[in-house]
Amino acid sequence: MDENFIKSTLKKKASEAQRKKNDTFYFLILLYLMKSLFLILNTKRPMKKIFLFLFLFSSLEQFSQGFKICASYEVIKEQDRLHPGYKAMVDASFTAVKAMADANRGSRAVNAADTIYHIPIVVHVVRLATEDNIPDSLIYSQIEVLNRDFNHRNEDSIQTRNAFKPLMGRLNFDFFLATTDPLGNPSTGIIRKLGAPAISFFGFNAFSDNVKDPVEGDAPWPTDKYLNVWVCNLNTIPLGLLGYAYPPTGAANWDAGSYIDSAQQGVVIDYTAFGRNNPYIIDPGIAPGRTAVHEFGHYFGLRHIWADEAACVEDDGISDTPAQGDQTNFDCDTSKNSCTDIGTDYPDMIENYMDYSNEFCQNMFTKEQADIMFYNLQMLRPNLAQKTVVYGVGITKSDFDFISVSIYPNPAKEILYLDLNFSKEKNIQFTIIDQLGRQIKTQTINQVLNKIEKIDISGMSSGIYFINVSDGNHLIHQKIIKN
Ligand SMILES: [Zn+2]
Repeated sequence: MDENFIKSTLKKKASEAQRKKNDTFYFLILLYLMKSLFLILNTKRPMKKIFLFLFLFSSLEQFSQGFKICASYEVIKEQDRLHPGYKAMVDASFTAVKAMADANRGSRAVNAADTIYHIPIVVHVVRLATEDNIPDSLIYSQIEVLNRDFNHRNEDSIQTRNAFKPLMGRLNFDFFLATTDPLGNPSTGIIRKLGAPAISFFGFNAFSDNVKDPVEGDAPWPTDKYLNVWVCNLNTIPLGLLGYAYPPTGAANWDAGSYIDSAQQGVVIDYTAFGRNNPYIIDPGIAPGRTAVHEFGHYFGLRHIWADEAACVEDDGISDTPAQGDQTNFDCDTSKNSCTDIGTDYPDMIENYMDYSNEFCQNMFTKEQADIMFYNLQMLRPNLAQKTVVYGVGITKSDFDFISVSIYPNPAKEILYLDLNFSKEKNIQFTIIDQLGRQIKTQTINQVLNKIEKIDISGMSSGIYFINVSDGNHLIHQKIIKN
């Protein structure tokens, strides 16, 4: 990390903090003036909204203390107030998943190179103005960053300090923009809509979660089958909020009333923090696009590395992250050591995506964090991913009705042959996608028993692609190289 860059970042941060402080001051005055009007407006609205207002008001102290980047912990506390017992249930769910992860340590599939979990993403871009209608290119860059960081392919992992290198974790998650909508129609995985917050002064905010409302924002696609991401302006009023997400819930012993509404599951990111090198960025420390990596960590069940509560007392529940007393306020301070660990005393792991360190210093999840996310995907989000086993170059095989499926030659230049042999007739769809998850070519082949399909790839640019072959229930997936 270039020292001058860090200095300029910190300087920028200081002026940013001052600006936020001023903004918050004006905001408090505005809120005071708006209070009466707001309550009158709210008398015809559900009680929840009134509670929301009171909660927002009581939380201002917290928000006025500085630059705030993620409200995931706060929205859990708010849900706990709305549905008493919610937080305890989240904790119980985490404990159950952790027990499963611990029991399978050593034999786990997390690091098995041949099993990939394909996770379809739908991005709801809900705009209020023009610049928050972010371009597709930012969305593609975000998918690329997510795949890079979750799979530990980030080149900046060489910056991970030696003490933490043995702890670096990796998942085989393949995030891709959904290619079909819930009705089975072709889709780009991107939805654009003009939002209509009920009270425009408050815009979209974490506590009413109104960007997911079908009228005010955009309703989710089924949250058990798609990872819904909403991109919107979370700072219509200046809170400095970059995102929030709910952890997975669904342990079998939960009371029905304790569940968060499944329609709320997903990730919400402020438009200024979405994608890599976002032109609307409010702090250079978030340029690498890791706000979404952090929020996806919450979505898969991770807590903040400093555990949000009392210094060095509350733990994040992960044993291979050092104890940490507070968040690393956009710093890259490698000398920071806020708590004394039992046994070996490690410094604070500012490299971790679940800290609030400068995103240029973040470069890892730990092995145990990866385990927790892996088991949460399997146990509490069981319908989200399609799991495929990738065999070596040239031949792909699966365990259902396929006698053989061969894709050759690989690399290929003009024609790719899809050699299909099944034990009974199937309707098959193949899709070629690029590294950003964009659909390049798709076709359905009906009533196939034995067939060699010729796919013309002469018009595609050279590079790495993936081909998915599906019978509607199962998927095989293979990397192909176009020369
Ligand atoms: Zn967070």
